[in-house]
Order: sequence, then structure tokens, then C-alpha cells
Amino acid sequence: MDNKVIEQAINLKKTKGRIDVIDIANSLGIKVYSTKKIQYPSMIAHNKETGYYEIYFNENEKKTRNRFSIAHEIAHYILHKSKIIEFGVVGRENLCSLSSSEELEADKLAAEILMPCSCVNEFMEHNEITRDVKIELDMIKKVAKEFETSLLATIMRLRELGYYVGYIEL
Ligand SMILES: [Zn+2]
Repeated sequence: MDNKVIEQAINLKKTKGRIDVIDIANSLGIKVYSTKKIQYPSMIAHNKETGYYEIYFNENEKKTRNRFSIAHEIAHYILHKSKIIEFGVVGRENLCSLSSSEELEADKLAAEILMPCSCVNEFMEHNEITRDVKIELDMIKKVAKEFETSLLATIMRLRELGYYVGYIEL
């Protein structure tokens, strides 16, 4: 199941040039709404009457944050659907959060959705960056722009994929 969503992300990157997380959510049958009414980044709710899943993201947050939040909630839908049904709502950094290991799991899958391994490798190859080259801030900014991710999320994902990112002062 995880693989399917990552395959979809890879496919979007190849065909449309960008990974539209709202597209991914919609294709899973999840509706996505922006709101100013929440104090935290995002949440996913299950409506028992309609059977629909709904992601709400905080439109006061940065675009990169919103993308990560939506991917994070999609990850909950894939990994922790039974808990969303049980609780009715699962949100980030609020009382409805799951355990920290479940939150980490969702963050990990979110990073894979936003920066799939094969897409990152292809981009790095295209820029002639191998894993033994120290990556400078300029390159990190380039990767972040390409995948529409924050600098910090980009650094974490690059390191996870075995790239050499040295000390960077943000
Ligand atoms: Zn969460």
C-alpha cells in the first residue's frame, strides 16, 4: 500500500513535473480543505455519516509546510486508517495526535511521498552530485525548490538517502 502512493508520486513527478499532494489525496478519495480555523498545521477527519475522509490544512502556514502536512495526513490515512475511524479525527501537534512513533512513521512516509528516492537520485545525477560529494547550501536550495520542500526537510531527506550534507547554518 505504501508503495502504491510512492509510485503515484513518482508518476506525477515524471508526467506533470511536480508532486501535487492534493491530487494524491483526491485520488485516494480524501477531500482537502484549507482553513484558518485551526491553530495547528493540519488534521484528518473521518465523517462517520458520509464515510468521507477530509484533510484540513492551516492556510496561515507556509506552502512548503502545507505540502508536508498534507503528505503527513495522507500517510496517516494509509498507515493508521483504523485509528482515524476510531477517533474520528487525527491532528498534528494537538490532543488528537497519535503516539510519537506513529507520528514519526507518518513523517517518514510523507518525506518519501514528497521526495521519492528515485526522483531525488535522478535529480542529483542530472546535477552531477554523487554521494561522496559534500553538498553545499546552494545545491540544497536547488533541491528544495525542485521538490517544493523546506530546507530542513530537504536536508533530512538527503541525509536519509545517503547524501553527504555537512554542517549547515540555517
Ligand atoms: Zn500526525
